[in-house]
Amino acid sequence: MNAEIIAVGSELLLGQIANTNAQFISNQLAEAGVDVYRHSVIGDNQSRLLEEISAAEDRADLIILTGGLGPTKDDLTKETVALHLGRKLVMHEESLFYIESYFKNANREMTENNQKQALVVEGSNVLMNHHGMAPGMMIHSERSVFVLLPGPPREMKPMFQSSVIPELLKLGEVKPMKSRVLRYFGIGEAELETKIDHLINKQINPTIAPLASDGEVTLRITAKHSQITEAEKMLDEAEAEINSIVGQFMYGRNNETLLQKACQLLSSFKLTIASAESLTAGLFSSQVGSQPGASSILKGGIVSYSNDVKVNLARVSEKTLSEEGAVSEACAIEMAEGAKRQLNADIGISFTGSAGPDSLEGSPPGTVWIGIAFKDQPVQAVQLKLQGDRNYIRLRAVKYGLFYIIQLLEQQNAEELL
Ligand code: ATP
Repeated sequence: MNAEIIAVGSELLLGQIANTNAQFISNQLAEAGVDVYRHSVIGDNQSRLLEEISAAEDRADLIILTGGLGPTKDDLTKETVALHLGRKLVMHEESLFYIESYFKNANREMTENNQKQALVVEGSNVLMNHHGMAPGMMIHSERSVFVLLPGPPREMKPMFQSSVIPELLKLGEVKPMKSRVLRYFGIGEAELETKIDHLINKQINPTIAPLASDGEVTLRITAKHSQITEAEKMLDEAEAEINSIVGQFMYGRNNETLLQKACQLLSSFKLTIASAESLTAGLFSSQVGSQPGASSILKGGIVSYSNDVKVNLARVSEKTLSEEGAVSEACAIEMAEGAKRQLNADIGISFTGSAGPDSLEGSPPGTVWIGIAFKDQPVQAVQLKLQGDRNYIRLRAVKYGLFYIIQLLEQQNAEELL
């Protein structure tokens, strides 16, 4: 099966939004073993859309359209597909009921053009929209299968995963498969690939695809098997084999972020954390604060940017600052210990360093010290040499801090902690 994706909407052509729907659908189809040969973007113009649909039908088995299913006049995707196929638009009662109930529950008046959203192309397999109003459609023509999906990604993505993929499975066009994303930190993409090169070279099923994302490295492993449980087992085996080599750098799976994982570990061990932040000036505690349930883990933070705050609030000794400097192991250790004690937390974490653009106390930009004080254990400090501009260095430092917390907590004996 080969596919084309047509995104409809003038806002895409005007550069107001990026065509992330095509990216998402392509990625999903690639995993499903469907070849995508073309992406196109058409504005809200019926004759150009008609032209594109006709051309796509000459080339592709599967044509996926996103956008233009809304209630307004410029939404004309289903009208144009109906025109091309010589079919009528008919009312889909279940969708109409759903839309009417939505307006009733929201205590809002439903206008006539909202009814238009419940119209579907005659003979379609209707894909219910559980995150919005416009239903999707799957339509078989003599030559191809058309799939019409809403434009908003939060409506389109779940519809694609919960309705389109199962329909393609029913058609026998894709094999059942299972994917898992393995997330690594503290190792570069090239280094990780080199270490597991022999596994990547022999891969057939499961497949291993490295992806770099925002300073982290992820591997997507995908297994195909007629039994989903067998596919799951194949993924477990592949993950174990990969991690026998690079396991110490893995921190999570699928959509889990460093931040979520660190907070989830702190919360499951019932531990509290406090920070003393110079370089990052509150970024760490702000990120922890963004997580639901932060109040049970975050004690607070000291933004000890200046040396007198380091001394007065974080309890760094004047001697350390005058002899070792603020960008030093000793200062990171005292700040971490100070945060833990002053704010009465189980863990104190500190960030001090030079974000640039100029050197600080002779330390070149990117020199970062992170300290971690955990209960009565000896305080640890690690030095990093980071590359990048000021804010990138600060963000990376926070990520490393989260990664060290994960490593620290994963090494602890859960029974002793609880
Ligand atoms: P609605 O019922 O909300 O009007 P629709 O199916 O008519 O949905 P559009 O009006 O075309 O969709 O787009 C609605 C919004 O969805 C856009 O403003 C944009 O935010 C998002 N969107 C549309 N197409 C895409 C796309 N290809 N990639 C990413 N986002 C998109």
